[in-house]
Amino acid sequence: MSKKVIVLGEVRDGALRNVSFEAIAAAKKVSGDGEVVGVLIGDSVQDLGQELIQYGADRVVAVEHPHLKHYTSDGYGQAFMAVHDQEEPEAIVFGHTALGKDLSPKIAAKLQSGLVSDVTEIEGEGDDAVFIRPIYSGKAFEKVKINEGPVFFTVRPNNIEPLEQDAGRSGDVSTVSADIQNLRSVVKDVVTKATDGVDMSEAKVIVAGGRGVKGPEGFEPLKELADLLGGAIGASRGACDADYCDYSLQIGQTGKVVTPDLYIAAGISGAIQHLAGMSNSKVIVAINKDPEANIFKVADYGIVGDLFEVIPMMIEEIKQL
Ligand code: FAD
Repeated sequence: MSKKVIVLGEVRDGALRNVSFEAIAAAKKVSGDGEVVGVLIGDSVQDLGQELIQYGADRVVAVEHPHLKHYTSDGYGQAFMAVHDQEEPEAIVFGHTALGKDLSPKIAAKLQSGLVSDVTEIEGEGDDAVFIRPIYSGKAFEKVKINEGPVFFTVRPNNIEPLEQDAGRSGDVSTVSADIQNLRSVVKDVVTKATDGVDMSEAKVIVAGGRGVKGPEGFEPLKELADLLGGAIGASRGACDADYCDYSLQIGQTGKVVTPDLYIAAGISGAIQHLAGMSNSKVIVAINKDPEANIFKVADYGIVGDLFEVIPMMIEEIKQL
């Protein structure tokens, strides 16, 4: 049976995040021949609608309100429910981002539906779709099939290939007026920490450092390598706890979960809590002085050596290309 699917497009700094396009590709798989409707929520987001359509949405519905300029679960919850009640979809897709992780359980509770979170792969299509998601900190995978009720799932960034952008595709972008009221809080301003470089959760390449970098300055060669590869910097909790870098870089069970195409772990022992955040990366390269380090168990390529010798060599080689 074909399904109408609504997909929340996520906007940051006035631009759509990649996970929005990945979510549309996932929606296409479960919709059968049904309609895929993009949803945009914000202060002035309508103009981004055509981009969602170019990535495969059939049409887009936007909810705009000054109180929606910045995310609150209350405000976005009301806005999303206004679209939901108008569209009456059979399926809903969010990105498994900080926003999606916060909002999806709230919406699921309102709809009294189940929620399959953190989907990394979808097997089959339409009613036969089976959702694959990591469990036990990535040590196993669960396959979930939804037999009844709304199909509601979140997709982990960087796992589902978006459709190719088709600049010639166009569709309808309409607005729903939502009476956003009685908000317990309204975010007036967001002060972001200045970070240089690429957003880690969407990076294709991550160069991560652990306690082995020995100090904040030990991250410098890692930054140079990451820049050369167009990637982002990450870290183990060991490095964060030692004050070598900011906690916003922490990857793992209590940090960010990432799945880049290439993960380079330098001076990281590979504790289970760290592996929980990166072991699903497509290619893992580990650099460690200790040949017995646990990180080598998940690495596709292991380099036993001093990171302060190996990384400059990698930089030199890449510069030759
Ligand atoms: P270490 O274990 O000290 O490893 C440093 C490594 O660097 C060693 O393997 C060493 O051989 C190597 N090395 C040293 N010098 C060099 C050199 N010059 N060249 C190459 N290699 C070198 N950790 C996380 O990362 N993320 C989490 O989210 C997280 N959550 C946690 C949650 C809980 C509840 C708990 C209890 C722990 C958590 N941890 C987490 C901590 C985790 O258990 C480890 O302590 C931490 O990951 C270790 O960091 P590390 O690998 O950088 O340090």
